[in-house]
Amino acid sequence: MPPEHDGMPPDEIELICRDVVEMVTEYLGQTLAPAERQRFEHHLSTCPPCTSYLAQMRVTLELAGDLGKPEAADQAERELASLFRRWHQKK
Ligand SMILES: [Zn+2]
Repeated sequence: MPPEHDGMPPDEIELICRDVVEMVTEYLGQTLAPAERQRFEHHLSTCPPCTSYLAQMRVTLELAGDLGKPEAADQAERELASLFRRWHQKK
């Protein structure tokens, strides 16, 4: 387990935050498999920074106007991944 998850029971964390960063565009684009979607949502319920990240990502992608544009999603992902790292370091 990565150090940012200490204090949480490892069994509860099936998905680490890095996976959320990678899966968020698929999640928002409704292309995530149902089982993965469930894991994703379960992780969100245990991880407030990821919930905030998802909310930010949703807005960013809506502003970008097109989930199908890989470069727009890429850029948003990079920006938000750095924001996200700061959230984790803050606590
Ligand atoms: Zn997380």
